[in-house]
Amino acid sequence: MTEYKSFSLHNFREIPQMEYLTEEQRFNIEVVGTVLPFKTNNYVVDELIDWRNFEDDPFFILNFPQKEMLDEDSFNTVALLLKSSASKKEVQEAVRKIRLKLNPNPAGQESNVPVFQDERLNGIQHKYRETMLFFPTQGQTCHAYCTFCFRWPQFALNEFKFAMKESDTLIQYLKANPQITDVLFTGGDPAVMKTRFFETYFNALLDADIPNLKNIRIGTKSLAYWPYRYTTDDDADDLIDLFRKVKSKGISVALMAHFNHPGELKTAAVKEAVKRLISAGVQIRSQSPVLRHINNNADIWAENWKAQVKLGIIPYYMFIARDTGAQDYFAVPLNQTWQIFRNAYNQVSGICRTVKGPSMSCSPGKIQIVGVSEVKGEKVFVLTFLQGRDPSWVGKPFFARYNPDAIWIDDLEPAFDEPKFFFEDSYCEMLA
Ligand SMILES: *Cc1c(COP(=O)(O)O)cnc(C)c1O
Ligand code: SF4
Repeated sequence: MTEYKSFSLHNFREIPQMEYLTEEQRFNIEVVGTVLPFKTNNYVVDELIDWRNFEDDPFFILNFPQKEMLDEDSFNTVALLLKSSASKKEVQEAVRKIRLKLNPNPAGQESNVPVFQDERLNGIQHKYRETMLFFPTQGQTCHAYCTFCFRWPQFALNEFKFAMKESDTLIQYLKANPQITDVLFTGGDPAVMKTRFFETYFNALLDADIPNLKNIRIGTKSLAYWPYRYTTDDDADDLIDLFRKVKSKGISVALMAHFNHPGELKTAAVKEAVKRLISAGVQIRSQSPVLRHINNNADIWAENWKAQVKLGIIPYYMFIARDTGAQDYFAVPLNQTWQIFRNAYNQVSGICRTVKGPSMSCSPGKIQIVGVSEVKGEKVFVLTFLQGRDPSWVGKPFFARYNPDAIWIDDLEPAFDEPKFFFEDSYCEMLA
């Protein structure tokens, strides 16, 4: 059994491989890690990162804060405070101001929290008709933190805004909404939960016998950050047995696995974990955003999809990096992201082409960049909804004026001098 060792701001200097870094590089981690959440572990450090070339290593960049993730002013402010041994309060105040500039609540997640029997259900988000998100209280952290994460405020600001302890409310909500077929456990990373918590939630769902519930999904990065969760951890066998049991009761279990790079699929531990899950009847689907410095290259994506399919994983979503946190560091323009998608999709056989995207998860829905084209002499982005707050928007093509620098929906305007996109009126009505 491999014991889990976690590293964060207070103890990262104990990582033996830190000797590869200069003192300045270690200090930079401290500065940026004071603003953005920082956490890694012994699996990432020992099995994923190639320390001989750490400066360009995708997994180093994925977990260790980089100087360029903050703008120069913010970086210098914090660096100066730390060097002058400023009081904790002074540092916190400066950090708070910087964080607020980093769009801590993207895509209007607040508006997804349902009101049910006159109460706001804080552990639930319900945006798309068939699928509700459930945020179990015990699953609101992760085995390591991604430097690009859009959930960063909940780690950094310690506001576990969307968490819920009770399965009762979950069950009542599911019964009252028969259009829901899928419950997606999310976080943080629900797979940090001990098996006994999974048992509590899943057994409650099974006992409640909810005819509309067809799929239990778990959104998780654990296969990439801590595959031992499914192999040698104390309660790994129990978790696998639990998944098998749920499946045998006619409800499918799907792991929505987060893989950013084919290197995450290469270790013996991850291969073993995938094998065990699949033999228990669990479907594994994969998703990732396109990230500069990590995977903004079509060949990496093609390799990733091929490696996944070889292990039995189904490629599912390619996302566009969200407009939050260190977005400037990771952002890839929409046009380039689409090129990456296309050039990767071109290289693989049909069984890898289950992937959808590239897709922007923004407040109205998941918007796919279908491509760049020319209509009536105007260069345009062709877009469509893969998911919408209103399901009738899905699959309908629409057009935005081409803009090579656009990185997010906010940068787009309707093509053909139209005053607004087709969904805007009904979207505004929904939010009102
Ligand atoms: C992506 C997402 C889902 C799941 O959508 P699928 O297309 O069914 O995978 C559900 N809720 C929210 C808020 C999402 O962003
Ligand atoms: S594992 Fe997921 S939720 Fe956790 S830090 Fe990474 S992207 Fe965010």
